[in-house]
Amino acid sequence: MEQFDVLIIGGGAAGLGAGLYSSRAMLKTMVIEKIGFGGQILVTDEIENYPGFPKGIKGPELSRMMEEQTRRFGAELKYEEVVAVEQLDRPLKIVHTSENSYCAKTIIIASGGSHKKLGVPGEEDYSGKGVSYCAICDANFFRGEEVIVVGGGDAALDEGSYLTGIVEKVTVIHRRDQLRASKILQERALANPKMDLLLNHVVEEFRGTDLMDRVLTKNLKTGKSYEFPATGAFIYIGFIPNSGFLKGVLPTDDLGHINSDIQMRTSIPGIFVCGDVRTHSERQLGSAVGDGITAALAAYHYISGD
Ligand code: NAP
Repeated sequence: MEQFDVLIIGGGAAGLGAGLYSSRAMLKTMVIEKIGFGGQILVTDEIENYPGFPKGIKGPELSRMMEEQTRRFGAELKYEEVVAVEQLDRPLKIVHTSENSYCAKTIIIASGGSHKKLGVPGEEDYSGKGVSYCAICDANFFRGEEVIVVGGGDAALDEGSYLTGIVEKVTVIHRRDQLRASKILQERALANPKMDLLLNHVVEEFRGTDLMDRVLTKNLKTGKSYEFPATGAFIYIGFIPNSGFLKGVLPTDDLGHINSDIQMRTSIPGIFVCGDVRTHSERQLGSAVGDGITAALAAYHYISGD
């Protein structure tokens, strides 16, 4: 069985950041990725909030550059799917993929997660052309425009409130007559003159031409559907961390995020976690890279015994 110092599960920004640091520290490193190196940035059109690119950069381009930089210092990058892990409490931990098995002194979990989708017509077509899952990333593209937020939880109101600092108006569309969000966020939303609530409504379709310019909504009380003008739609109906393959192995919060300390150490020595799969992640590109670097340094200290 091939042996590594550091085995990183997930090749998004956090995993590639971790791989860069651990391979440059001369640790034998492998990054295993299931779909595409770059992760969420690979499917992001324009990135304007990552330092070092004052004019912004296309997500696929940044992914390619991050991948190349991580390979440059000797990290092995492989396309395989991790299906199970075992012997995590032993000095050599084992990772099984769909094709191989590997052992490693340390494992860094950087498996990310995915935003829940509404699954209605137009959502995929207008993704990046009006439909977004990240207000902090994309709000500036809608400066001075009217947008909607879908969802009634903390994330919807928190991100909706952030949007009101940038866009002209935010309408939160929620499927019930009661919001799920905490009372304090509800009070702030009601007091915010730039935020409206449209309760008992669902979005049935995203519409437009090249870019989205309206949504088809349905009033669940009356059963009537009508078009609602909006150039942006921010979907906040939940986030699913990719931690299923670790079920019962590592402690998680109720939603499946893996708990860690500030150095990205989990409760098992030699196992680290970084990026969106981690509890309390900021879910930002910059913070994911920072998490990955912290995890790689923690793995380095663990291996060197200091
Ligand atoms: P959440 O609390 O699970 O809320 C998801 C919202 O989306 C709910 O209002 C839900 O409606 C709605 N929803 C789910 N599926 C839907 C669908 N198919 N169509 C329409 N609406 C749908 O998720 P979250 O807001 O992402 O928050 C996740 C966790 O992070 C929570 O523990 C939250 O407290 C925490 N968080 C906290 C903060 C903060 O404290 N500032 C900020 C962000 C997140 P129903 O209510 O009808 O189920």
